[in-house]
Amino acid sequence: MDSSVHLDNVVMNFGDFTAVQKTDLKIESGEFFSFLGPSGCGKTTILNMISGFLDPSEGDVRIGGKAMRGVPANKRPTSMIFQNLALFPLMTVAENIEFGLEVRGVSKAERKKTSDRLLELVALDGSGTKQVSELSGGQKQRIAIARALAVEPQVLLLDEPLSALDLKLRQHMRTELKDIQRKTGITFIYITHDQGEALTMSDRVGVMSAGKLQQVADPITLYREPKTEFVASFVGENNAIAGSVEGVEGSNVTVNCAGLGLLTGRGIGAISKGQSVNLFIRPELIRVGQAAEAGCDVRFEANITEINFEGSYLTLNTQMGSQSISVQIGAEQYTADLVAGAKVKLGFISQDAVVIARGENV
Ligand code: ATP
Repeated sequence: MDSSVHLDNVVMNFGDFTAVQKTDLKIESGEFFSFLGPSGCGKTTILNMISGFLDPSEGDVRIGGKAMRGVPANKRPTSMIFQNLALFPLMTVAENIEFGLEVRGVSKAERKKTSDRLLELVALDGSGTKQVSELSGGQKQRIAIARALAVEPQVLLLDEPLSALDLKLRQHMRTELKDIQRKTGITFIYITHDQGEALTMSDRVGVMSAGKLQQVADPITLYREPKTEFVASFVGENNAIAGSVEGVEGSNVTVNCAGLGLLTGRGIGAISKGQSVNLFIRPELIRVGQAAEAGCDVRFEANITEINFEGSYLTLNTQMGSQSISVQIGAEQYTADLVAGAKVKLGFISQDAVVIARGENV
């Protein structure tokens, strides 16, 4: 069955304000796709256009190839899970799961079969007669998923469903959600401002800022090959080192960075001499001391301002002039000369750094 979702050149305006700029994106059948971005970037608006709570100002949403304009939410092949779950507190677990089927006139025997099957899927077999109030936060979450799946949607829409849970449970539920998605093969469209969630669960992630889809890619590509300044800074930790372009040779761009001298990285997009850019280098890709001397083609020095021991790794905060640079090293690389106040040799491989024009694509 085709359960793809095509945002076919959709735009959403509220009066003069454009909440979602023109977006053309196809989410494939059976894909786990996340929209990631800060508060107010337009994620919920996109979800609302897919679910049918809003029709786009321009363009259309196609689900399974069918145009959805004018099709009300309850007639679309979608199901939604919200942040606050909205389980019915006075019903049993099974009644909650079966509710959507009862409304559709499905027989009691069929409903029971479905709720038993779904309780097994979410690993809560035998809990059907429990009251919602007897469940833990994580169990409630799984019942909300079972209830959403009961009406056999082609597409499940998830609006920050884990944000009310504590950290440990949230991390556990990531694995569970991914597992449920694999078992059911349903298209999952997930919105979150939590990059950890988006990166761990998704086949692809669309990063949004100010109503604009900045980049769509699988998590590793997004992390390694950010296409815009926003994606480079928002996804994972990154050092942004400002400078102006000294020279361009193929994809190699040499940047004159105040206080640090000439640093080289891979240019993204069109970059020319004299342009203001940021060179982005991830903290874990910067090497220290001997390792910087031996294995790196870009080297510089900085002063350590602070060392934080984080268990399996250490974070060194360093400074050179007005530029601060964060460095992450494995605990096994720690040496006694790494102390606050000491000067340290740092380095990276030029291919590990990306150079992006400043103020573009934001
Ligand atoms: P959050 O993570 O905080 O929920 P979001 O990324 O989901 O944010 P949206 O809820 O899609 O963001 O809102 C995008 C922008 O559109 C915001 O500036 C919001 O104020 C505006 N907006 C949303 N709905 C409406 C509406 N019905 N009328 C006017 N403006 C709206």
